[in-house]
Amino acid sequence: MNEIIQIEKLIQFTLGDSILEIIYIIASVLFIFGLKMLSNPGTARKGNLWAAFGMGLAIVGTILFHKNSEGHGIGNIPWILGAIVIGTVIGWGVAVKVKMTAMPQLVSLFNGMGGGAAALISLMEFPHLAAGLADGTYNMFSGQVLAILIGLMIGSVSFAGSMVAFGKLDERIGDIRSPLIKYINMFLLVVLIGFIVYIMSQGTVDPHSLMPVIIIMFVVALIYGISFVMPIGGADMPVVISLLNSFTGVAAAMGGFLYHNQAMLTGGILVGSAGTILTILMCKAMNRSLTNVIIGGFGGGSGSGAATGAVGDQVAKEVTANDAAIQLYYSRSVMFVPGYGLAVAQAQKTVKELDDLLSENGVEVNYAVHSVAGRMPGHMNVLMAEADVPYEKLLGEEEANERMKNVDVIIVVGANDVVNPSAYDDPGSPIYGMPVINAWEAKSVIILKRSMNTGYAGIQNPLFFKPNAKMLFGDAKKTIHSLITEVKSLG
Ligand code: NDP
Repeated sequence: MNEIIQIEKLIQFTLGDSILEIIYIIASVLFIFGLKMLSNPGTARKGNLWAAFGMGLAIVGTILFHKNSEGHGIGNIPWILGAIVIGTVIGWGVAVKVKMTAMPQLVSLFNGMGGGAAALISLMEFPHLAAGLADGTYNMFSGQVLAILIGLMIGSVSFAGSMVAFGKLDERIGDIRSPLIKYINMFLLVVLIGFIVYIMSQGTVDPHSLMPVIIIMFVVALIYGISFVMPIGGADMPVVISLLNSFTGVAAAMGGFLYHNQAMLTGGILVGSAGTILTILMCKAMNRSLTNVIIGGFGGGSGSGAATGAVGDQVAKEVTANDAAIQLYYSRSVMFVPGYGLAVAQAQKTVKELDDLLSENGVEVNYAVHSVAGRMPGHMNVLMAEADVPYEKLLGEEEANERMKNVDVIIVVGANDVVNPSAYDDPGSPIYGMPVINAWEAKSVIILKRSMNTGYAGIQNPLFFKPNAKMLFGDAKKTIHSLITEVKSLG
């Protein structure tokens, strides 16, 4: 009788295991398809849902079918469900309320939570390494320990770094620039690697005895995360944000190794590699190497905030909405350059309205979308997709520049750093070397912004003083509304 019960248990155990494996495979496939769909604005929303469904499936599968080597389930179900409910309510509430302009900060915050969760897994699992072993000791020179330590280090750096990035994007924290900081950072990195070597060289010991070292390592990793992002300023933030993204992925993948959880491993690897690819693309967009970004620091002086065209001795020309509308009405080719100000003004749909109006009049309308415009990778693409701007009208910086000389009027809508010619002709400029949109090469440039304020990199823009450039001051959405009214009155 006993034997029959044991065989039944064994069958249930292996059946549950097989179902869980199948669930993890399905979840991993959903992640991959979801990620693929995210690469196109038309399918991105669906892709996000697919990947989220995959993650939900993996969580439910783990709760229902996961068994440890002794056949016990994961336990603590009320706690887990409670945490899921609290996390869902907070996440949902924040995401529903957040303004579109605060989206980059929110993404940073959520990314940090992923890194923090991975670090907590390491902190919780380390003391349990020897659970179930007769003498309560564990060999520290093992893959499990390495996965825990890397997860702890990278997860903590990602958490603390993302919190600083959140503060910077939300303009609560400024940059700290000191030549000392890069040496401090190198020192902290060496210390962290030293911790890993030290712990792994302890031989077979009770993991509890090493907990004080683990906690110190955790604190040092948090400090490193802060000091790593703190000096990175101005225009370099997109690179750091993508890098922190990839860190979170790698930290989660370490959790996958630890738990032999294929879904977590696949998810982590996908996030890690997508983040790495994005980091490379962002470095390319800035024409800077990763080492240069991390060690170099970046920044710039502050600019004038006057709502007039004067900055020091230089005076920028202004144009009225009426004159600008006449120019647009009689153009053959118009190009919009959306920037962060477009996101602030939420002017994407209004721009599309003006685009439709001009297109109906036979004007060729395109958009020059710079990879680092806005405050998060792909920011402008998201806004343009929201306004239903056809994908083929969106030109990357290279293609836009090739066409620039044939553009009659270029309208810069709340962009600044991405149209700054200092990137080419001022070796002292902090954005020197970054490819920008050569707006000044168009026949005429109209810049929509509220004042002569600088952009994110904090540097003045000589484009505003070029002979063919004119400022049209005001909130971008209101200004474009006026342009629409004026163009309609001409027709
Ligand atoms: P910028 O930050 O350079 O400039 C935005 C401009 O928009 C400002 O000069 C501001 O001028 C104007 N503006 C703000 N609100 C409005 C409004 N309501 N109506 C009209 N204009 C407005 O933006 P860019 O997109 O050109 O460049 C992005 C910068 O951000 C780059 O330096 C990039 O490196 C950095 N960055 C990018 C990230 C990414 O992942 N894409 C992440 C973090 C940083 P005013 O106040 O006078 O109106």
